[in-house]
Amino acid sequence: MAKPHVQILLIEDDEDDYILAEDSLTHLPEWQVELTWASNAEDGMALLDSQHFDLCLLDYQLGKVTGIDVLKQIKDRDINTPVVMLTGQADKAIDEAALFAGATDYLLKSDVDSGRFVRTIRYALARRDTERERLERQKAESANRSKDRFLAHLSHELRTPLSAILGYTELLLSKQHSTGSTELNAILRNGRHLLSLLNDVLDLSKIAADKLELTPSQTQFHGLLNEVVALTHALALEKKLALNLRSLTPIPVEIFVDTTRLRQVLINLIGNAIKFTQSGRVDVEVEVIDDKSHSQLHIAVRDTGIGISDAHLRKIFQPFEQVDDVVHKTEQGTGLGLAICAELVQRMGGYIHVESEPGKGSCFSILLPLTESIDQPRKMLEHHSDEYRYQLQQAEPMVGKVLVVDDMEDLRSMMQAQMSACGIQAVGACHGLDAIKKVKESLDSAPFDLIFLDLHMPVMDGYSAIKELRTLMPDIPIVALTAATLKGRAEQLLSIGFTAMLGKPMERRVLLENLQHYLQPPQLEDFNQTQVTKKLLLVEDDCDAAQATAAMLQLYGCDVDIASTAADCLDMLNQATYHRLVVDLGLPDMDGLQLISEIRKTNPSVEVFILSGSDVEQTTLKQFNIAQHYQKPLFGEQIKRLSE
Ligand code: ADP
Repeated sequence: MAKPHVQILLIEDDEDDYILAEDSLTHLPEWQVELTWASNAEDGMALLDSQHFDLCLLDYQLGKVTGIDVLKQIKDRDINTPVVMLTGQADKAIDEAALFAGATDYLLKSDVDSGRFVRTIRYALARRDTERERLERQKAESANRSKDRFLAHLSHELRTPLSAILGYTELLLSKQHSTGSTELNAILRNGRHLLSLLNDVLDLSKIAADKLELTPSQTQFHGLLNEVVALTHALALEKKLALNLRSLTPIPVEIFVDTTRLRQVLINLIGNAIKFTQSGRVDVEVEVIDDKSHSQLHIAVRDTGIGISDAHLRKIFQPFEQVDDVVHKTEQGTGLGLAICAELVQRMGGYIHVESEPGKGSCFSILLPLTESIDQPRKMLEHHSDEYRYQLQQAEPMVGKVLVVDDMEDLRSMMQAQMSACGIQAVGACHGLDAIKKVKESLDSAPFDLIFLDLHMPVMDGYSAIKELRTLMPDIPIVALTAATLKGRAEQLLSIGFTAMLGKPMERRVLLENLQHYLQPPQLEDFNQTQVTKKLLLVEDDCDAAQATAAMLQLYGCDVDIASTAADCLDMLNQATYHRLVVDLGLPDMDGLQLISEIRKTNPSVEVFILSGSDVEQTTLKQFNIAQHYQKPLFGEQIKRLSE
């Protein structure tokens, strides 16, 4: 076998010593040495500067200069060739100085033809290899860091103009008071599509960099399923498709999962099923498959659409596959959605599967392990398939402040979202005690106009809460929410102080009717001056995005000032008092987090929200005492939260 090639530079002013070294180096058993000789320090440095060497043997005494001086120059010029110092006689002080100056090793000239020389070279070369690996790793890490920074920046840059586009469009649509204009809806639809593409590309780059993390939590599963179907139902209605959700077996009420990511997967699958089906139906079926050893959750999304060919099926979960088809395609999409779904499901410990017959339809199913949620109580899904028939019905704008008290977070936020779409300020509470606290807080500033109160809740149920609520607000309408609408129940509830009773889950139509019954239609001036309660400072350098966000916040009754730089922000904080700050992290004159730490010096308790184009770590949020982080662009729901 050929011996490995090693390039060695010898810096040595004595020709005899050079000949001696050359003789022993050319006879080394392990390497094929190519020796270059420099007879003085200057030539040696020039060679090190211009050529690659695996090792440098450096004489200590080089005329006027010493090897230590040369070592210093090597260090100064960032040359990382390992250097072995050659000394005439054993001198501990010189050895130490050489090692201190950066030499890898030292060697007596009399040892040049001994086994010790071979060991020294072997050691120096091994050190060189480790050092090279370290540098490569460092370079790769720094390249990765630059890539992450670039992606965060790009994402921010793309989301900022989208904030302005989506924000203004939502605002204009909400001011139309009627069915809205086709053009505005087209802008909104396309803007949202652009945002979802951006999210897909970012997700995929996170997956590629192994940076995608799931954050599972206890999730109201029934609520999540209903919400996802509600969200996609409008699309199905547009195409006159039936969209049905049902459980085939009792399914857990709660599961331990990353809610946002499961929602993303389900919306993608149902969205695709609707997108690729021209007539017929889309069925979402959920069941638990109990095995001897473990239980699994099976969610199937079945459509009667165009189906998928065998060739396509084989690569359907691979990213960018749709690109092949780009010329013939009639539907929008990047072909990233399913690849992301597959990755997400896999990270949840599950499995995604598809069966399809061209011309007949497809069935995408996911199987998720139920390990964490195995002991959860199970129930059949309560769902009325015509519940969402009214989804497209445009709600009349209304004015008022409503408290929704329900421990099912998904149902609560769905009701809140439906109300805020009508211009109502909807606040959520998760149990009776929370409701009482929120009502007490509201009494001095802006009291509620209506309360929806669930009966069965942890901590304090609706029966106990109504007593206290009635003493706080004797005349306010309080509507009971109950799943069990038994005969005689309504009378019983009215007798303990409720104004009315509604069955759960509540149809949107019923909710709208109740809101119209209990709340006022808006007067023109309401849009300009609804309860100005919060003074808010928005720190955003992009003028359009800032104006759009401010306009939305004003619609919810906030008094908003805009600062376009960190310096402006600090100035304005000196001149006025703000309840809440919303800070964009990408500011021109100072890093957003640095600005927040400046603000904290004088305003330790002001509530700060941050906006950015990418994820922010939990530890950072805690460190800077940040109330909430929102990714741009801000949507109606988030705007509402900021205005509360
Ligand atoms: P896209 O964002 O392009 O829809 P997906 O990864 O979600 O990307 O889907 C990739 C492709 O798989 C789609 O473009 C379509 O050709 C096919 N596909 C996905 N779901 C279905 C379905 N339910 N019926 C027919 N084809 C489908």
